[in-house]
Amino acid sequence: MPRPVRLLLLTLLPAFASFLAALPLVAQVPGQGLPPPPASSTAPGTPGTPAPRAVPAFDPVAATNAYLATVPAEARSRSDAYFEGGYWLQLWDFLLGVAVNLGLLASGLSRRMRDLAERLARPRALRTFLYWAQYLLATSLVLFPVTLYEGFTREHAYGLSNQTLGAWLKEQGIGLALGLVLGGAAVTGLYAVVRRLPRTWALWGAVTTIAFLVLSFLVAPVYIAPLFNRYTRLSDPVVREPVLALARSEGVDARDVWVFDASRQTKRVSANVSGLAGTMRISLNDNLLERCSLAEIEAVMGHEIGHYVLDHVYKGIVFFGVLIVIGFAILKAGFERVSARWGAAWGIRGADDPAGLPLALVVLSAYVFLATPLLNTIIRVDEAEADLFGINASGQPDGEALVDLKLGEYRKLDPSPLEEALFFDHPSGRSRILMAMTWKAEHLAESEANARRAAAADRLRGFSPARAEAWVKAHQP
Ligand SMILES: [Zn+2]
Repeated sequence: MPRPVRLLLLTLLPAFASFLAALPLVAQVPGQGLPPPPASSTAPGTPGTPAPRAVPAFDPVAATNAYLATVPAEARSRSDAYFEGGYWLQLWDFLLGVAVNLGLLASGLSRRMRDLAERLARPRALRTFLYWAQYLLATSLVLFPVTLYEGFTREHAYGLSNQTLGAWLKEQGIGLALGLVLGGAAVTGLYAVVRRLPRTWALWGAVTTIAFLVLSFLVAPVYIAPLFNRYTRLSDPVVREPVLALARSEGVDARDVWVFDASRQTKRVSANVSGLAGTMRISLNDNLLERCSLAEIEAVMGHEIGHYVLDHVYKGIVFFGVLIVIGFAILKAGFERVSARWGAAWGIRGADDPAGLPLALVVLSAYVFLATPLLNTIIRVDEAEADLFGINASGQPDGEALVDLKLGEYRKLDPSPLEEALFFDHPSGRSRILMAMTWKAEHLAESEANARRAAAADRLRGFSPARAEAWVKAHQP
């Protein structure tokens, strides 16, 4: 989606991006980085305590290392470079956004866009909307080269995109239209709040933003996601039956499983939970279904069911709601301080003047940028919870490990603990595989039986690594 829209969503609706983008698998395991447990326990039992249990021959750390070692060095360094480049892009995007917004203020463009809106319309809400339309178009245009690089050129350079330039541009157009309508509604509504409640707008602005967030969660799966992808119900019975059985066993309405054609955009394997109340649903992408064995699909499905059953969407709204309230308090204080010093020079009449929107977005984006490690950690903790839920639901530790390696195509597999804490909104591949292998060590017979059953189903549907490979090739432009 266009950068200003993304900026708005990231600033006004931080949870929107994270929850709708995708909630794929994750696992965070205490003990990561610790030396492997001894292969055989020789700890002397104190007299009177039972003798130590025989330790299973299966060593989770060795198994984790063996899985990681299956990734060729060249593939590993490419995905590391892609993901680490993302750290820098976050910084450059933030600085660039600040520069563009300050440029609009200092050049007097923001003031002139406000003046033009006032000449064109009388009602204040319409004036605000007209300002927004100009702001969105101007910033989309200025940032277009960066958007093109990040969203298209770079994705192709790393072999992740399946899109032609035409298809990509069409999606940008849809995103821009959505930004005009939804962003326009949000900005117009928020400025109406600021005008009517000049003393308490920080609180009521936060409440309005949260209401808008909840509304967008509710409508996104039904009205927004289908603009970009086709959604159908899971159809192949060989996959559908075990997946629906898994859902039913956790009390999830089995009709809620959808498949979408992400292969139009990317080769990434992914799944997510979106929506709210009556619109809440689990969606798996077609890459997942075509590139993964049933054991992997079940592992992912268990994870998504975890998000669903553990009410992560509702808990997310509460967490992000608190951060939005804090964000608006910072916005009010920051806006007043800066506009007291520069407001007259920039032609900003007050907090209720849309000409001050670039300043408001600078303050909010600084807050979101600085809070990124916290936002990542809030999401990562939920993801780790969903992973544990998922492994217990699916009983497919090797499926989990294999799909974690596929997620490693676009996410660094083995970061340092600090890197993981700061930059990862999902546990790293190593954390997740170690979680799965630890589970396997303690459920060996169950793991093997589940893997055998899934492998039999894979033979029935004609799944093979070669067929999965062919799927990827067939969808690349
Ligand atoms: Zn998830």
